[in-house]
Amino acid sequence: MATQTRSGRSHGGAGHTATTPLTDHVLTLQREAGNAAVTSLLGGNGPVVQRFSLGVISEVLAYVGIGLDLVTLPLKLIGSADREMTVLETLVGAGVTDPDKLANIVFLMRYPMRMGKPLEKSEKKLIAEWKKLKRTKVKTALGTESGPMSEAKKKSYIEKAKAQAKLGNEDLTEQMEAALPEGTSVDDWFAGIEPDAKFLGQRIRASDGVAPGVHREMRERLDAAATHLRGLDKFAGKNDTAIRKELGIRDIGGLRKPKAASGSDGISLHCFGMAVDINPDKNPFIGLDESSKEEFKENESPKIIGRAMWLVKGQVFNVKQQLQDEKGRKLGAAASWDKHHAASDALIEYMGFADDLDGEALKARVDAVRAAGDTHDLEWWKKRIGNDRKLAPYYDFGKKGTPEKTGYMDLTKDLIVALDAAGLVWGGTYNAAKDIMHFGYDGSIHRTGKKK
Ligand SMILES: [Zn+2]
Repeated sequence: MATQTRSGRSHGGAGHTATTPLTDHVLTLQREAGNAAVTSLLGGNGPVVQRFSLGVISEVLAYVGIGLDLVTLPLKLIGSADREMTVLETLVGAGVTDPDKLANIVFLMRYPMRMGKPLEKSEKKLIAEWKKLKRTKVKTALGTESGPMSEAKKKSYIEKAKAQAKLGNEDLTEQMEAALPEGTSVDDWFAGIEPDAKFLGQRIRASDGVAPGVHREMRERLDAAATHLRGLDKFAGKNDTAIRKELGIRDIGGLRKPKAASGSDGISLHCFGMAVDINPDKNPFIGLDESSKEEFKENESPKIIGRAMWLVKGQVFNVKQQLQDEKGRKLGAAASWDKHHAASDALIEYMGFADDLDGEALKARVDAVRAAGDTHDLEWWKKRIGNDRKLAPYYDFGKKGTPEKTGYMDLTKDLIVALDAAGLVWGGTYNAAKDIMHFGYDGSIHRTGKKK
């Protein structure tokens, strides 16, 4: 459903945008006054004026959850007759191939003040503009890239991947070299990068940096997972696109330039092309953002999720601990998914109470947990839920999360089971903070120290 996609998922849009009002204001003036002036000078029939700056582009990319380093973009934009097209082609070249996402990026470049403010159904003109954008420019930009990648392009990306791998600081380069198999140089390893790698037909974009794809070893594991999924009864007779859509896979990030892994001092498997992040915008790394101030600790997302599980389901749950069964055994990927699914649903329901703080449903739940020993009264819960709803987007969800709609996970169990069976380690099974979007494969990489 197109309207839902635009207003609900794709813009993120928790409704609590943190862009500075001043920037919004200036951009609004610049766009509306400036464009209106130029348009009227041209008699209303002139070309669309594209006034956006590089700052706006990076703000929009961060907002939609793309951490690409578009180092060559400024040069390309100079003298470009159609800056929007230049941005689109650059993104598609880096492996961003989700049409909705691309349309959102250009739309938000035109209307940066709409970050965090999804389109309403009543905004028919803007919706029509978004649709036209997707039908025209986005389609054109994808047209050249949706088919097979040319050999020349593949080669050029592999060279870029090799160069990028040597650009980290000395410490990171040393760690990279130490992790590679005996006798394998950085160049040898990155010769194995497959820039056109896909999972169920979805191109794997760069997680950041300049080269898309994953390493061959990782692509083989993803192929195994795809084979597993195609073999399921429920997907019999369906093609990869249909399976992918049913699994809700919208976006996959792979290779990343050398840097320490999130929440760790070691190097990330992404830097070797040995990890993927699936739908990162709706599957955050839960427990990564920590407050430096004791008084704000209760606002961190694991605490909010814990309160949600307690109030909605009457269960004690700490997402930052090792997930275990009642006998203390570590849960596997499938059982971990069950836990996260329950907690993610509880989070949606909990966030929903904020819309009806005086309703019967909340009162009934508070009565139930009080009967089970909870010492807080209804007023305390009302205040807490109101605050949690406002604060949730700022811990782990970034500005783009929609915990009130999608909880903290939209990955399906079939997907988790298939990737786990293919040998990937899911971040949802980590023993501390949970990297829900993340699937890594060590393969012939041997990292030492703290791993993620
Ligand atoms: Zn990751």
